Amino acid sequence: MEKFLLIGKNLEDIEKFMIENNQSKFRAKQLYNWLYLKSADNFDKMSDLSVSVRELLKEKTRICSVVLKEKQVSKDSTMKFLFELEDGNYVEAVLMRFDNRANLTACISTQVGCPMGCSFCATAKLGFKRNLTVSEIIQQIFLIQANTGLKVTNIVYMGQGEPLLNFDNLISSIKIFREQFQIGARRITVSTCGIIPQINKLAEMNFQSTLAISLHAPDNDIRKKIMPVSKKYPFDELIKALKSYTQKTGRRVTVEYVLIGGINDSLEDAKKLAFAIAKLKSNVNLIVYNTHEKSDYKKPSKENIMKFKYILEASGKKVTIRLERGADIDAACGQLSSKMNTK
Ligand code: SAH
Repeated sequence: MEKFLLIGKNLEDIEKFMIENNQSKFRAKQLYNWLYLKSADNFDKMSDLSVSVRELLKEKTRICSVVLKEKQVSKDSTMKFLFELEDGNYVEAVLMRFDNRANLTACISTQVGCPMGCSFCATAKLGFKRNLTVSEIIQQIFLIQANTGLKVTNIVYMGQGEPLLNFDNLISSIKIFREQFQIGARRITVSTCGIIPQINKLAEMNFQSTLAISLHAPDNDIRKKIMPVSKKYPFDELIKALKSYTQKTGRRVTVEYVLIGGINDSLEDAKKLAFAIAKLKSNVNLIVYNTHEKSDYKKPSKENIMKFKYILEASGKKVTIRLERGADIDAACGQLSSKMNTK
């Protein structure tokens, strides 16, 4: 008989299992706390459960289906985790601490590979394999906490895959992070390359986490060249959908913009972008292009980065430049490609 997979289950599921196995609801709550509040990855750590209960759990359940295969630590202390899924596929997640803050941010994956085909992104080169299950999404955070003994305080859905194409599992996993891992809605960010119908769905749901949009271009001509999604969901319609999203939810969106040397980083591009998002309630997050062996693009010059930032700020936007994290271990944005998957 298939073992009952625990991570991803809520309290009612665990109670039901325990009652079916002649255990009390109280035992279920103890097990639930060990899993979600203490990240116990081994039944023998669950010291207030009797030996017989632990034996029952070992026989009939398993905590995880995902295995942590490798952990790399960068010079800046960013960590990259390689996970093996049950079907032999791999995904990656990244853990970052930002200076002067107690926040610990985990960047997690929602798909094996990615179907979007952005020309500058290493994950895109893998192609799309499949969606992750809710449990597989949750297990990334569980295993990071179990391995490091640290509590993740912020989650960004910015790892491998397009979260809005795995919509139901995305929404279910956010619910579990909020209710079971006690991570607040405002500490969760979902990044999308711009799937308009799903953005509208989030607006209808009155989504309360942060939506980040990988815009990366000031108009449809440039965007089409680097992001095929623009052919289906054009730039102007995307901006319109985002405006209506901000109106419905009352929330500001984050405009992400990867500056790629000679492609989208000119003064003219900055002015066009400022104009295009002038009426969109948004902050801007500039990302300096991270090089990787799977594409030939170049980083922008320091001068262009500063000019770009200045022009957007002069237009009234709050602009941050995303720090490059973990580049020496290929953990920076767009560098996740699970080398194992290409074997
Ligand atoms: N599919 C979602 C989630 C991925 S988030 C999305 O597109 O938003 C990963 C972010 O890193 C995206 O903004 C992506 O465009 C960006 N990115 C991809 N390749 C990059 C690279 N080489 N350098 C910097 N950022 C990159």
